[in-house]
Amino acid sequence: MRPEAQPLLSLRALTVRYPGAAPVLHGVDLDVQPGECLGVVGPSGAGKSQLFLAALGLLPPQAQVSGSARYAGTELLGLPRRALDRLRGGKIGLVFQDARAALTPHATIGAQLAEVRRRHCGESRALARRHARDLLERVQVSDAARRLQQYPHELSGGLCQRAMIALALAAEPRLLIADEPTTALDLTVQSQILALLAALKEGGGLSLVLITHDLGSLAGIADRVAELEAGRQVRSGAWRPGPAGTPAAAESPPAAGAALLALQGVSVRHRLPGWRGPTLEAVHGLDLTLAAGVSLGIVGESGSGKSTLLRVALALQPPSEGRVRWDGTDLASLGAAALRGQRRNRQLIFQDPAGSLDPRLTVAEAVGEGLAVHAPQLAAAERSAAVCAVLQAVGLGPELLARHPHELSGGQCQRVAIARALVLNPRVLCCDEPMSALDATSQAQVSALLARSQRAAPLTLLFVSHDLAAVRALCHEVLVLYLGRRMERGPVTLLHGAARHPYTQELLRAEPAADPAVERARLAAVRPGEMPSALAPPSGCVFRTRCPYALARCAAQVPPWESVAPGHEIACHRWRELPPGG
Ligand code: SF4
Repeated sequence: MRPEAQPLLSLRALTVRYPGAAPVLHGVDLDVQPGECLGVVGPSGAGKSQLFLAALGLLPPQAQVSGSARYAGTELLGLPRRALDRLRGGKIGLVFQDARAALTPHATIGAQLAEVRRRHCGESRALARRHARDLLERVQVSDAARRLQQYPHELSGGLCQRAMIALALAAEPRLLIADEPTTALDLTVQSQILALLAALKEGGGLSLVLITHDLGSLAGIADRVAELEAGRQVRSGAWRPGPAGTPAAAESPPAAGAALLALQGVSVRHRLPGWRGPTLEAVHGLDLTLAAGVSLGIVGESGSGKSTLLRVALALQPPSEGRVRWDGTDLASLGAAALRGQRRNRQLIFQDPAGSLDPRLTVAEAVGEGLAVHAPQLAAAERSAAVCAVLQAVGLGPELLARHPHELSGGQCQRVAIARALVLNPRVLCCDEPMSALDATSQAQVSALLARSQRAAPLTLLFVSHDLAAVRALCHEVLVLYLGRRMERGPVTLLHGAARHPYTQELLRAEPAADPAVERARLAAVRPGEMPSALAPPSGCVFRTRCPYALARCAAQVPPWESVAPGHEIACHRWRELPPGG
């Protein structure tokens, strides 16, 4: 990148306030040079998105914006609406976190792309259509002709994000502002999108602003990073790794005892509403045992069956086939009342902390609710003592007792959800992506809290996550799922270089590296590839369509579940020939 005299985007003393409230942005200065990638980082609520929405005139009318925001020398604040519209979606492309919500649901991808070409570039219908296809190919969408005819709901999250980027590129912008473009995506798809953005910057001379709460994702792409905290810019300069946020690795597992949980031949099939074709099989013939006190990390991309497995194990959903036993008791043999009684022992923590709490209940009521149901013998004073003790254990002070979920941060909500589960002294804690909606600081706090709770109890933990660092920190063992099937299971050392299955190795390669040079090389080597539909899984080994080692045998035969070593099992025809790694 060659610094030029005039920045492409220049923000000076940009301040945003809302009537009756303290400013949300306090005089931020920031430049984006032509051809550079600026990473904008900070925790949730730091003002990262507000900064660029303010510059582009996209905040609600009551927002009071002052200072200056210049694009290529043109002042944007106060610019007439028509002139701003020509720039937004024209010279300045925007990409949002939730691409599916940002795309128009009732128009095909092709129609949406062609509309931008016609509006901003004045092209004829036929030419705009042709360019729409070029754009999808430019963002590495395979089978572009078919995708042009599809609606957003027919595309996976990764494809929606690519379509959104194609839309942002349609008017040939000089600047692309991407707000958390990979937060909602799996690591593998996240790598593909980052690699695509890096290629657009290098190959097309595009300037990029990448807004994210994940500093690590910027290593291979950002030339500079600006950090915001509470509406103020606190740092700016070259990319540097953030502080290590995860606690020490999980302690050794307890000596193997009798199986606490046993799944035998479990399959879960769904028929989609109005769909007459084949059923969707979320989990296929799964066997699994788990000893008491062991923490099992369940990993795999979206659609691998992780959450379905958790719901079946907790009797929140019956299996279509197979048996689920807890302590040797078959759940199918229990009536509704017995199942409800058992729930106290097995608690679930969800991904969306605010959504899992009742908005009408205060923190004290939310945490005490389960005690009222499962321990009705407790007097009111005993109940509130138990609530205060557990809130203290999760690091929340008594001043929060009377607050409602909307008055808490995401991290505080998740700690309330954990307190709600722990107050019942469960034997098993099941977590479904408990950190994915949190910023880096809150993630580290929740991870440390779970590790402490696990040591203090000791708890059996079923931990569904695509965050391999969190699995390393919290789990003794790991189970890798793909399209509802087991690929590999073993000690957590699998995630430290001992993985044998090509899919586990691919998940490991999708983790961002802390060293910018290593990360650039990793992004340059990212291969496109998507999980096939569960409605039509590939024959033989279901991973074969993405596996670099696939042979004819892999299409013809389902690989058997074999033992690599005690406690380490795998489903791959070629594991003996392939080197461990990841
Ligand atoms: Fe790859 Fe074949 Fe092994 Fe499947 S069985 S992971 S396709 S080598």
